[in-house]
Amino acid sequence: MRRQRPTLIAVSTLIAVTLTTAAPAPANAAPPDQVTALTAHQADGYTTLAWQPVDGATDYQIERTPVDADNTPTGAPTIVGIWRPNRQINQQAPTFADAGYNPGDTFQWRVRARTGTTEQPYSDPVTATTTAPWGNPTTPGEQLRTGWETTHAAQYTSDTDEYAYTAAIDALSNRVRVVELGRTVQNRPINMMVIGHPTPATTPEAVAATAPVAINCNVHGNEPGDREACLIMARQLAFSTDPRITDLLSHTTVLIVPTINGDGRANNTRGNSTGQDLNRDYSLIRQPETTAYIKMVRDYRPVAGYDGHEFGNSRAGDLPMLPPRHQNVAQPIFDQSQDMIEGHMYAKGAEAGWWACPYGCEGGGNVGLSEETILRNTLGLKNVTNSLLELRSSGGQTRPDEGNTANNRRRKTYSALWTFHQFLDYHRADRADILKARSEAIESQAANTGRLVFRGSRPIPAHPAPHPGDSPPPLDAPPADLILDNPPCAYKLTDAQYNGARTDGPGGVGTTVAQRIAAHGWKVITIGDDHYVPLNQPERGLIPLLLDGKGVEKLTDGERIYPTLTGRRNGPLAVTGFTCADDATINGPVTVRAGAALVTTATTISGPLTATGAAGILLADSTVNGPVRIAATDTISIIDATIAGPVDLSGNTTGTDAPVLAGTTIRGPLNCTGNNPTPHNLGIANTVHGPRTTQCAAL
Ligand SMILES: [Zn+2]
Repeated sequence: MRRQRPTLIAVSTLIAVTLTTAAPAPANAAPPDQVTALTAHQADGYTTLAWQPVDGATDYQIERTPVDADNTPTGAPTIVGIWRPNRQINQQAPTFADAGYNPGDTFQWRVRARTGTTEQPYSDPVTATTTAPWGNPTTPGEQLRTGWETTHAAQYTSDTDEYAYTAAIDALSNRVRVVELGRTVQNRPINMMVIGHPTPATTPEAVAATAPVAINCNVHGNEPGDREACLIMARQLAFSTDPRITDLLSHTTVLIVPTINGDGRANNTRGNSTGQDLNRDYSLIRQPETTAYIKMVRDYRPVAGYDGHEFGNSRAGDLPMLPPRHQNVAQPIFDQSQDMIEGHMYAKGAEAGWWACPYGCEGGGNVGLSEETILRNTLGLKNVTNSLLELRSSGGQTRPDEGNTANNRRRKTYSALWTFHQFLDYHRADRADILKARSEAIESQAANTGRLVFRGSRPIPAHPAPHPGDSPPPLDAPPADLILDNPPCAYKLTDAQYNGARTDGPGGVGTTVAQRIAAHGWKVITIGDDHYVPLNQPERGLIPLLLDGKGVEKLTDGERIYPTLTGRRNGPLAVTGFTCADDATINGPVTVRAGAALVTTATTISGPLTATGAAGILLADSTVNGPVRIAATDTISIIDATIAGPVDLSGNTTGTDAPVLAGTTIRGPLNCTGNNPTPHNLGIANTVHGPRTTQCAAL
């Protein structure tokens, strides 16, 4: 490393040299190339070593020696870490997170610089006792331990251990409720811990109102390091009296899914019991495991997420991360995810000594691409700020003493634990920005503007050197034949396409397209035997990937339906059939006939809009200069609209799919009565100038 030295420091060095010449050096003065000011800060499962940088150092070696209570070595000193400049964004304050020891043991550390391959003198030693596993061993709840902890990382927590552990937390903590999201192919429960303070909200809809965060801990069964971190963190969240924890849990709900792939974990396989890689199935949801997770996302509406993995590239950093990159992901979600990773994790990693970097990170190969089947991208397309987390599998060159399996596992798990806690801190600090990004993303998606890309990623620019990104993931630009410049208004599916039997699930049996669309939570308008999926919806970027003929991994070939109503039109309009208006100006009253549907984007209606017994009304990015009355209609969505009012939604029975009224300004009263289910706002408040009645009082 060749540091840029600020002028001020150069001057003070000159003064120091002058003083040294004037007076004899004290006997204990450090040689100029010796590391000084070494400190060791203890945290859960790791120790942050920090020191003053040595000018001209190429790298640093971190030595650890086990000692007893009298500071007498009980083992050989070992080089356990190599600090390289690309570990962190600030070079002036080097740190290294030493992990991979038995938490609670006592060690002595020393650090030395190397200039080229020349080893400089070691620092003075620092001795400290590391932090024991979290929780007082005699306090109920806190005393719980996972199978992984009790075996000192010799064994991973088994499936039955996990169920017993999570059930015990559930029983002993008012903050935790364990819910079963579904069952694996082999009938293992897929549990989720719902954690809030003082108690978690009672229904998915009530949890959604708390802007929850979700951690998916173990999708690849042979990558279990994150799962152990999740189980430990759940205990901390459930029982800690630390004001930080209670504050976090008072401002959100933490959703932890320890093991979506219980069958794969039990058999230590990447895929589920059918061999399906579940992280290539979150859009198609052919498998019960992915279906359970996607329904959870639909019902609990997490605003931010992490997805835990391990990564075999030994040259990678400790913690490769990556945002949703698919080009159909709304820009605010990509930007917010990048802020979480590069703005928060890189900075906090440099403080704690963990090396976060982009997935790939030093020659990682063809990874981190745009498949919408990957949870990272699926969540992005669902307007969730999120990141992948990869734990580097092996010690690699910068952790040369991980031949001990248990120590290797501890480093991975405790680095994941650090990441997940940072994730919660980021959400707490940046909640308003995360919610703003989500609102903007939902509104921009529902506006259905701009090209659609069937495969292709946003670039991940290299972070300024020397911090990582020596080789961020490949560019992955969309090929021309996978770009659709003119987006349709909707896809039309035949009844055979929509309700027909499928064979793409386990055992050759698949759920129908109708069931999968329902699991995603998309609105569908049914007219006769035709089923229309409009694109003026929050997941506009995902819909074509499953329903367009160009979709690389699609469910079916829907027919593209383009707008029929554009430009200016004067006089009353009676809508029949499926009518799509885009960039239209309609001067006159609009009546949607029974059994008909109106879908609008960028459209202005000057006059009343009335629908009784309609098949569907979906308005987005549109204006109604008049009253709106929607009754006995099957499908309703109003997003980012401006309506003079009054607005009346009455007697609409929409099955399991609640009417949406979100991000809309109403300059008059809003009346909602007799709707089943009750309308909701997707977490985007409406502005209503007049009074609101019961069902819409909280919207
Ligand atoms: Zn993985």
